[in-house]
Amino acid sequence: KKLGVALVGLGKYSEEQLAPALLETQRCKLTAIVTGTPEKAGKWKEKYKIPDKNVYNYQNFDKIKDNPDVDIVYVVLPNSMHAEYTIRAAKAGKHVICEKPMATSVKDCEAMIKACKDAGKMLSIGYRLHFEPHNLTIAKFGKEQVHGKIKKVLAIDSQEMEKGAWRLDRERAGGGPVMDLGVYCVQGSIYAMGQNPVSVMAKEGAKTDVERFGEVEQTMDFQLEFPGGAMANCHTSYAESGNLLRVEAEKGWYELEPAYGYDGIKGKTSLDKLEFAAVNQQALQMDDFADCVRNKKPTRVPGEMGLRDVKILMAIYEAARTGKKIPLNLA
Ligand code: NAD
Repeated sequence: KKLGVALVGLGKYSEEQLAPALLETQRCKLTAIVTGTPEKAGKWKEKYKIPDKNVYNYQNFDKIKDNPDVDIVYVVLPNSMHAEYTIRAAKAGKHVICEKPMATSVKDCEAMIKACKDAGKMLSIGYRLHFEPHNLTIAKFGKEQVHGKIKKVLAIDSQEMEKGAWRLDRERAGGGPVMDLGVYCVQGSIYAMGQNPVSVMAKEGAKTDVERFGEVEQTMDFQLEFPGGAMANCHTSYAESGNLLRVEAEKGWYELEPAYGYDGIKGKTSLDKLEFAAVNQQALQMDDFADCVRNKKPTRVPGEMGLRDVKILMAIYEAARTGKKIPLNLA
């Protein structure tokens, strides 16, 4: 039997990526929805054959505890709401997948991990690129130093953000592009290097659109330093577009551009080929989690990884604010 998944928050990512992917998964399927907008439910019920009893809102969400159709709750809400719904899901006895960035504070991440641990439930972060073959290959090159030591990484993730979006609201987003896109640069740098960074430096870019970016940064440059001194230079912005992961190793270079998309990822290299067929990242990610739950195996993208990254995101802001190099004491 396939494990049942409840999507919490029926926004763009749920509607356009996760729900369609749940039609392709082998080990799990969409069985319930949680939405604050009753008008949305009708279309979803019909399209995904969801019975009335499996439609929840934010008030009665905790009743999901009594619903055997739901094994996994997938939290796809604005960033500041991840902690509350992850904790409520764990208390309702469900395994949880939570979207990136895991939360808007280190404290929240820790509380989420504890809640899942106390409930004896698994927690995973929606880091879909850990299931994407180009990115996986770059991670393998980093981990096994296939092309010699990694000398340098360049990671860019920028996307225009329209005025009025919750992603520009500090309260709900926890910050600007650093939280939303910078997390891909952090992730990419770490798997490209095959290890965790030891310190971070950062500089916020000038605000050319103060109206749009009244609450959050418009652009951030940051530099992650790795053991041995190798650097990852990262750039993220909400006022331009860019999408790159480039690695220089002792024996050659390789890069993905775009690197972090749902599809269309392209590799180039001075070495062998770096080309793979497209996959459904979200379907692979959710099926892998279902497999981990069923067979009590650890997930490759656990809450602890989300916590590590939020620690780094917070250190980026601290570095930008103070102008100082911030040491990272990551386990
Ligand atoms: P969205 O704005 O399209 O959807 C957000 C949903 O939350 C909507 O259904 C909205 O109604 C609901 N919501 C409930 N309370 C809200 C409030 N107070 N303010 C705003 N919306 C509220 O956003 P999205 O793009 O679907 O992103 C949702 C989450 O998924 C974010 O954490 C984002 O970082 C993550 N995400 C991850 C990926 C990925 O590739 N892994 C891609 C897109 C988004």
